[in-house]
Amino acid sequence: MKATAVTILGSTGSIGTQALDVVQNLDIKVTGMTAHRNMALFEQQLRIFRPAYAAVSDEKAAKELKERIADLPVKVFSGIDGVCEVVACAQAEIVLNAIVGMAGLRPTLAAIAAGKTIALANKESLVAGGELVMREAEKKGVAILPVDSEHSAIFQCLQGCADTSREINKIILTASGGPFFGMTRDQLKDVTPEQALRHPNWSMGNKITIDCATLMNKGMELIEAVWLFKVPPEKIQIVVHRESIIHSAVEFADHSVLAHLGLPDMRIPIQYALTYPHRYHSPAPQLDLLKTGKLTFGAPDMDTFKCLSVCIDAINRGGLVPTAANGANEEAVELFLKNLIPFNDIGDFVEAAAKRQDETIPITLESIMKADLAARQYVLYCVKD
Ligand code: NAD
Ligand code: MG
Repeated sequence: MKATAVTILGSTGSIGTQALDVVQNLDIKVTGMTAHRNMALFEQQLRIFRPAYAAVSDEKAAKELKERIADLPVKVFSGIDGVCEVVACAQAEIVLNAIVGMAGLRPTLAAIAAGKTIALANKESLVAGGELVMREAEKKGVAILPVDSEHSAIFQCLQGCADTSREINKIILTASGGPFFGMTRDQLKDVTPEQALRHPNWSMGNKITIDCATLMNKGMELIEAVWLFKVPPEKIQIVVHRESIIHSAVEFADHSVLAHLGLPDMRIPIQYALTYPHRYHSPAPQLDLLKTGKLTFGAPDMDTFKCLSVCIDAINRGGLVPTAANGANEEAVELFLKNLIPFNDIGDFVEAAAKRQDETIPITLESIMKADLAARQYVLYCVKD
């Protein structure tokens, strides 16, 4: 059956607001909510959904929120520890992690520690800390249900597969190609954040939209798929599919291929994670193949969009290499959005940070945090010169 109560981390974001749309439509209770800085929107949401617990990760914004909602019976925590408190305290079967970036890792681990099923949008949890997250989730018997559209698609194609360890031939991970598909490195030299933020098919938060433009997002999704579905990187084929109608596919041992289709609307995968294994009516529009017409497929250009090949290399090297690539990317994307570095530097920094990372260091939460910080500091240090 569908969940009766959920906690939504990052409720003010693109996934968070769409998740609220889904839960309202399904009549699911929201018992915990968290946000970072947009207190005007968070206040509105708290007044509508009335969760028992809330957290604001930014300490200054937390003070502001407490004043704004002094009349509400909501217990407000602050900082990332506060987000973890909400995860632990709120009565919910599912925690939807829709926080952006590495900041989502500790809340993911907190949900595992609390034994709560995770609906995971925060792919950085798995890119930076996949080994630790999967190890802890297995120990605790906690299910991680994908929200990322491609992984939800793959997960849905795998329903009914009797033995995933033997019967999957390959995963076909589709990519829209982003706003700069077909451009050369030279043409990308001077692209602006405004141009990079114009995604052809999806409307999303700024960070993931830039990740789509560099193809870092697809590299991160390959790593995410390695952890979620326990397939080696060489069994994942990346196919550029400009229309974003096929959200991914799986080829099985008998060479049957199952694909998941739909219009690009994140409310479909969000809802599936909250109602799995059941399906309910969705507010998302229906796909009409006669209107869609042609579907096209092509190979990604991994030389121009080097983040993708760096991610593949990073997961093959293993250890904390993906952590370093992720940390460098987060810092570089922020600098690009502030017009402080050119677009092509993002890939160069991700590549250099991954190269510098020692892959033999054992993986713990502390070593992950350290590698993340070192990669960020490396990027900042290079930019200072
Ligand atoms: P967004 O920027 O729109 O929203 C991010 C949310 O996280 C906000 O609620 C914000 O308050 C919160 N947040 C920001 N910084 C934080 C911090 N330091 N600590 C705690 N909370 C913080 O991002 P989004 O597009 O909704 O993406 C969220 C996650 O979902 C990302 O990991 C992204 O890769 C993934 N995802 C998004 C989409 C999409 O369509 N938007 C699709 C697939 C996967
Ligand atoms: Mg995706």
